[in-house]
Amino acid sequence: MDKNNPEYLKALRHTAEHILMQAMEELWPGKIIKAMGPPTDDGFYFDFEAKGVKISEDDFPRIEEKMYQIVQRNLPLVRKEISVEEARKLFANNPYKQEWLDEIGARGEKAVVYYTGLKSTPGAARRDSPGVKGENYAFVDLCAGPHVKSTGEVKAFKLLKVAGAYWRGDERNKMLTRIYGTAFPSQKELDDYLKRLEEAKKRDHRKLGQELELFVIPSEVGPGLLIWLPNGATVRREIEKLIYQEQEKRGYLHVYSPHIGRKQLWVTSGHWDLYRDKMYAPMTIDEEEYLVKPMNCPFHMMVYRARPRSYRELPLRVAEIASVYRYERPGELSGMLRVRYITQDDAHIFCRPDQVMDEFLRVFDLITFLLATFGVEDYRFRISLRDPKNKDKYLGDDAIWQEAEAKIIEAVEKKKVPYFKAEGEAAFYGPKLDVIVKDALGREWQAGTIQIDFMLPERFQLEYIDADGQKRRPVLIHRAPLGSLERWVGFLIEHYGGAFPVWLAPIQAVVLPITEKHNNYTQKLVDQLKEEGVRVKLDNSNQTLSYRIRHWEMQKVPYLLVVGDREAKRGTVNVRKRGEEKQVELELAEFKNYLKDKISHRSLGV
Ligand SMILES: [Zn+2]
Ligand SMILES: [Zn+2]
Repeated sequence: MDKNNPEYLKALRHTAEHILMQAMEELWPGKIIKAMGPPTDDGFYFDFEAKGVKISEDDFPRIEEKMYQIVQRNLPLVRKEISVEEARKLFANNPYKQEWLDEIGARGEKAVVYYTGLKSTPGAARRDSPGVKGENYAFVDLCAGPHVKSTGEVKAFKLLKVAGAYWRGDERNKMLTRIYGTAFPSQKELDDYLKRLEEAKKRDHRKLGQELELFVIPSEVGPGLLIWLPNGATVRREIEKLIYQEQEKRGYLHVYSPHIGRKQLWVTSGHWDLYRDKMYAPMTIDEEEYLVKPMNCPFHMMVYRARPRSYRELPLRVAEIASVYRYERPGELSGMLRVRYITQDDAHIFCRPDQVMDEFLRVFDLITFLLATFGVEDYRFRISLRDPKNKDKYLGDDAIWQEAEAKIIEAVEKKKVPYFKAEGEAAFYGPKLDVIVKDALGREWQAGTIQIDFMLPERFQLEYIDADGQKRRPVLIHRAPLGSLERWVGFLIEHYGGAFPVWLAPIQAVVLPITEKHNNYTQKLVDQLKEEGVRVKLDNSNQTLSYRIRHWEMQKVPYLLVVGDREAKRGTVNVRKRGEEKQVELELAEFKNYLKDKISHRSLGV
């Protein structure tokens, strides 16, 4: 098979994972109870229970050494179908495999196993005999495959880290040990991948979030409950300003709504029935049940219903940058990327049926405009559809879903952008168009969304008086161009590696006097920049100049302004741009104009 084929890569990584399991069984006989181990998008992992031993990353060299030996032995991988009863004997002391076998048995299927190093001697692993380990074969696992032909094909692999993982990802189950690794067809591809991984570690938003003092998630507050520190809050506020500005230009009306509301609101909207597992338990106020909002939709329905609407005022675009609260499982919480307190750049557009396409395309333009402003050039779209096997998890009938889906496809085709479809990713009230952006390292992240909804206008009995005097239902578009601001800022931190463009940088310039005697001049400089709205800081601490420069470079400040005798006398500043060694002496007025221009145009470079 072609070695660049993703299916080949999966088979290769899955085989590397079997080699890992075999190596560990050989190193710790009887102590490693294998649970599961699939290939993933960029490698593989192996979950196991370690009985009486503790496996750590310190063990990697000897495990890898053992794995190389198994590769050297060039053992064939052989697929066999056996009865569930035979398989039970083969994995007699393994409760995890027995659990899989219970399920396979209940479906009335045969068990598929893969042998490594199966000998073709008569009697070895025939249908009626699983054979004897060590004699007839080297290793066996219950596994659907596929695999490459032999262990000798797995030439470039690496173990990456050890973590804990619940059996089948369920926190009510036992905690197992997980080893992550990866494999590639060649050493060069593996090396390139490891280099990217190193770079990704440096850009990790949790690490940079701490170093640059952007946010904290204190355990005292609770998992997934993020606090924006002043630096992070500044970044967020600049993004909010951009959103308000662009939306105002585009005819949006901004509102504010409460964080809680009567339970009935969410019964009407359908959230209570179909979204409850993401919602927090009701609280009782004056003997009535209230809910914390997981979405803003019902409140914006109330904005629409604030008075009778005429066809002339449609489309009505109701926007709010609002925080919502959703339950996420503890194992899925991850820094800013998945939190339980989520701030959305939300809006609901109420329009006539003949306006849907135009409105959809306008939202599309807003999204692409915003992405360009952030310097995100590489993205594609996902059309998120219902899970066809679980239609009862969604509102409405087939015809309505097909109509909404057809509209979304028409829109993306008009815009000639790359898209793909994904079943089971829709909202319960309609299909979505999701934006998938690529960061500087080529990793994909889910960002904004646009959704067409015929259900909520029905459920909330929204109407408008049409030109002919008849009452009609508007169509609703839910949209959040960036999605969650927490996730978006997390993405930006990694995309920029913490080096925000000037307009977003928490501190845009730091003034560094060489000695104390320039205090008057430096204070004047700081005051003038502040007057222009520049986020500037004065660092006249006792540290040496080179120490201070190093410190603010680490903080990724776009401009360091060094001021000494010469500059004070001439009314200039010595500007050191981020990422550049040389300093440039500029007139103060010249620098101010330069900076103002960068900020007002939201330029990407320094
Ligand atoms: Zn397997
Ligand atoms: Zn909504």
